[in-house]
Amino acid sequence: MSALHDRHRAVLPDWLALYYQRPLEITHGEGRHVWDAEGRRYLDFFGGILTTMTAHALPEVTKAVAEQAGRILHTSTLYLDRPMVELAERIAALSGIPDARVFFTASGTEANDTALLLATAYRRSNQILAMRNSYHGRSFSAVGITGNREWSPTSLSPLQTLYVHGGIRTRGPYAHLDDAEFRAACVADLEDMLGQTRGGVAALIAEPVQGVGGFTAPPDGLYADFREVLREHGILWISDEVQTGWGRTGDNFWGWQAHDRAGPPDVLTFAKGLGNGMSIGGVVARAEVMNCLDAGSISTFGGSPVTMAAGNANLAYLLEHDLPGNARRVGGLLLERLRGAGAGLEVVREVRGRGLMIGIELVRPGTDEPCGEAASLVLEAAREGGLLLGKGGSRLGSVLRIAPPMTLTVAEAEEGAGILAAALHSAEAELGGRARQ
Ligand code: PMP
Repeated sequence: MSALHDRHRAVLPDWLALYYQRPLEITHGEGRHVWDAEGRRYLDFFGGILTTMTAHALPEVTKAVAEQAGRILHTSTLYLDRPMVELAERIAALSGIPDARVFFTASGTEANDTALLLATAYRRSNQILAMRNSYHGRSFSAVGITGNREWSPTSLSPLQTLYVHGGIRTRGPYAHLDDAEFRAACVADLEDMLGQTRGGVAALIAEPVQGVGGFTAPPDGLYADFREVLREHGILWISDEVQTGWGRTGDNFWGWQAHDRAGPPDVLTFAKGLGNGMSIGGVVARAEVMNCLDAGSISTFGGSPVTMAAGNANLAYLLEHDLPGNARRVGGLLLERLRGAGAGLEVVREVRGRGLMIGIELVRPGTDEPCGEAASLVLEAAREGGLLLGKGGSRLGSVLRIAPPMTLTVAEAEEGAGILAAALHSAEAELGGRARQ
């Protein structure tokens, strides 16, 4: 163990597990690559859990941040702030939400907290519908709507949450159904849930593609079906776009657009990648919903000039270089390569995804049992080969998560797919060998 690792143990809580047997110390990055303290270079297929939207050390973002830092780091959101107004106007226009208002926060958790604050106040109800296997952050209210129990360390939430089917479809009672049947079953489940509530429900919150839950998505259109039911009851729809926003899924700028018959959500939350590594988050809502609070509070660092400078420069770069289009093209190729790599391997149950958000679900060879050990083996082998990956999925961390910076090139996609294919083969050999003993 490195000396730094020993010191980490002294200051971090026991429930915070680091990746890798020899945890990585990353010292710098450029483009789609990062370097560790030993000088080794890695192709980054995790982008710091999607915080690096465009590229590491993107000169445009670095310059904008440095210039702003040279002027002033922070004042107060109680003063006029040009970069904040500009970014808010851009996001409002992109959101698809009519008469949209934007409120900036410092994280995704705080964005979802704010969305819950708005929805519960607007509807005067503390009942929330959330999806099974979901993740929405780590505050007291966010853990109370997180269906993935591994990521929800307390059940003492002030919210009354009901968990609906539909987030994960590879497993569970509806796994054998086709798309139309799955959607009908999930809608019936939602209606059944609503039949059991007393008083109004405030909102349904959902990630269009579940991130921490293992990059799993319902069939397109499910949220449109849900929306019809929600509208009958006046229930708001909150789309948590913390992972799916900004064209990450290639085909759509927002994840909700895969369900576009539903129209835009009432509330949309974003974070992570917009700041390209700066801590940013926010909520977009119809004015009527945003303005429903009769007393307010500000987020001290939400809308901070430095993060706004990063967000403006990063978003401008993304749009000018059509990175959603790049995510669609290069992501499509990567998905194809990874499907090819997984074909014939017992350890690979499914390779799924859209754009640059690809999940590989691993099982113990010869069984249908989710296998976190396989994911750890692949992560270690890929690291040795010079590639960083993420993992997720309910409880066991058995799904590999691939979400590179959105400037990924075809050559890098091919290179990463090659390293990953070798890592999958070595995990298969190791686990297959053990299974035969
Ligand atoms: N929502 C989703 C979908 C997320 O993936 C995350 C972070 N993994 C959050 C909310 C919370 O964001 P943050 O960590 O910035 O608080």
